[in-house]
Amino acid sequence: MNEDNGCLFCKIASGEIPSKKVYEDEKVFAFLDINPRNPGHTLVIPKKHFTTISDMSEEEYGELFSRAKYVANGVQKGTKSDGLSVVQSNGKAAGQVVTHVHVHLIPRYMSEGPVSLEGVLSVKKFPDETLDSVASSIKGSIGKSSEKKEEYDF
Ligand code: AMP
Ligand code: ZN
Repeated sequence: MNEDNGCLFCKIASGEIPSKKVYEDEKVFAFLDINPRNPGHTLVIPKKHFTTISDMSEEEYGELFSRAKYVANGVQKGTKSDGLSVVQSNGKAAGQVVTHVHVHLIPRYMSEGPVSLEGVLSVKKFPDETLDSVASSIKGSIGKSSEKKEEYDF
């Protein structure tokens, strides 16, 4: 399942590099983040190597996120947290450092003053024409993979 590509998270999934594992099944591996934002900060990764979610089929993405939700319930219960942030970054611009798809599950507490998306990027104002234009561009792009690997027609 894992490729000999020097990838840190492939090596963690195969057990070659140790980690604080909390869950594993045939599709995913979940372990504590080495630099936790809070105790119990967990990463869920597909056992198969993908760089970003664009490389995954709808089915593979669904398998990852349905299992991430399953683990998330355990993280929230196991840490008795008030809430839970699910964070997933694709590409350097989005802050992705490790180039193997991973889902962050971060326990959150009322005491830390819940931050919303403001914690990721601040709200900006754009002219209505810009928003119409971007909505139109997205509409025309949905279902068309940039790599042309797959075309979906839901
Ligand atoms: P990202 O910035 O979304 O790519 O997140 C990568 C995450 O991987 C960071 O939160 C790191 O702390 C975490 N990380 C890096 N190396 C390890 C490791 N050996 N074990 C556990 N977590 C790691
Ligand atoms: Zn990998």
